[in-house]
Amino acid sequence: MRHYDLAILGAGPAGMAAAATAAEAGLSVCVLDEQPHAGGQIYRDVERVAALRGDILGKDYTRGATLTAGLRHAAITHLSGAVVWAIEHAFRISFTQGGAAAQIAAERVLLATGALERPMPLPGWTLPGVMTAGAGQILLKQSGVLAQSAVLVGSGPLLYLIAAQMVRAGVPPVAMVETQTLDDLIRAARHLGGALRGWRYLLKGARMLAEITSARVPRHTGATGIAIAGESRAEAVTFTSKGRAHRIPCDTVFLHHGVVPNTQAARSLGVSHIWDRAQSCFVPSVDDWGQSDVAGVFIAGDSAGIGGANVAESAGRMTALKVAEELGRLSATERDRQAAPLRSARNKDLAARPFLDRAYPPHAAAVAPDDATVICRCEEVTAGDIRRYAALGCLGPNQAKAFGRAGMGPCQGRYCGLSVSVILAQANGLTPDATGYYRIRPPIKPVTLGELASLE
Ligand SMILES: Cc1cc2nc3c(=O)[nH]c(=O)nc-3n(C[C@H](O)[C@H](O)[C@H](O)COP(=O)(O)OP(=O)(O)OC[C@H]3O[C@@H](n4cnc5c(N)ncnc54)[C@H](O)[C@@H]3O)c2cc1C
Repeated sequence: MRHYDLAILGAGPAGMAAAATAAEAGLSVCVLDEQPHAGGQIYRDVERVAALRGDILGKDYTRGATLTAGLRHAAITHLSGAVVWAIEHAFRISFTQGGAAAQIAAERVLLATGALERPMPLPGWTLPGVMTAGAGQILLKQSGVLAQSAVLVGSGPLLYLIAAQMVRAGVPPVAMVETQTLDDLIRAARHLGGALRGWRYLLKGARMLAEITSARVPRHTGATGIAIAGESRAEAVTFTSKGRAHRIPCDTVFLHHGVVPNTQAARSLGVSHIWDRAQSCFVPSVDDWGQSDVAGVFIAGDSAGIGGANVAESAGRMTALKVAEELGRLSATERDRQAAPLRSARNKDLAARPFLDRAYPPHAAAVAPDDATVICRCEEVTAGDIRRYAALGCLGPNQAKAFGRAGMGPCQGRYCGLSVSVILAQANGLTPDATGYYRIRPPIKPVTLGELASLE
């Protein structure tokens, strides 16, 4: 089994930047990512795609090629297409690559596993033709495939980015059904002062909105009562906006109301998590360097709390400096000297976050869906089922597994976990912290017996 100073899970901006900084400091590094190419969510497959669709995806995408190039350092081993399914303490990492399982060992582990889109359970969301907006963007980035008649539903900067990219690709969305309200904007206004320090993000947002408006994409804000209609596939989106009922025919619906940290790996290692009220999700407990409350386990980027790609990059580099200092490759003085500009860049990039979090909160009806809406897609458990379990005395998500198998399917609770915790918390009148989350155990990703048997 090969042994490294630092194993990094995730080749997005956080993982790639951390790898380059760690290698520069003299550490041996192994980066594992299930994707066939480096880049993570934002820079997905950038080395191949930048030349093909860079004009559509924009400069914020193509700049990622600098980071992917940084992985070609003699001290970095990049294992692509490597699905990590177990991390054991002090540290042994098991993964599947090319149909066979293998293991590496490392002194320290950095979890840079990024974000997942927040589940958006609405009536009709399980119909064919409905997917997350991020999935729609993956089709565009990786394959140049675009839905011809799509309605975008939800809220947040990523929804605008995807709409703008569709406009640039010559296939604008049929309409945008947006859930944020004027009240949300008024509530966010008190954070505008801070947001002005991150004015670049506001300017970017304004430019995207200008692109969407000049393409005459209809925007319906403050939408309520949203449902996706259709017999055997999505045929229309129905909703109410500004007191009027609408029905917009389409063949594809892209849902999105923000992203939340992907915490599966951290939870499987026993890292403690707390409820972040501003971002309405669980975040791992980490210090300024990304050190978690489990010795040797670091977390950086969106998996430590949503901050975006630039924050992920600075945070990844800071963690690498900390690990290099712990392993004796850098003095504490040198670590702090190199970290100072990264910390101030990170803080500046975070300045607009409180404004954005309040201006685009999660859609209330998808956080507390009606009884008939399916929550756990793997096991077909509805919101009403979860409320019934609560009425029978079920206090937490782990008990809910025994009541009705919620979270026991192939996704291991990645897509229903947040919904189940929040619905139980509401039903029992408890906080999300008191309600808790699924206990995550390996394998955190599906692994076959054949793959296990191939281990040496
Ligand atoms: C679907 C989606 C699309 C997005 N698109 C954009 C965009 O276009 N522009 C933008 O500004 N922001 C986008 N974001 C937000 C994005 O999360 C951040 O801006 C940025 O990518 C965060 O960087 P990161 O390094 O923290 O994580 P990521 O870039 O998400 O990288 C995490 C990596 O970890 C890998 N990974 C996770 N678990 C495992 C495992 N068990 N085994 C192996 N590998 C694993 C993933 O494959 C991924 O490559 C998107 C988010 C999502 C969820």
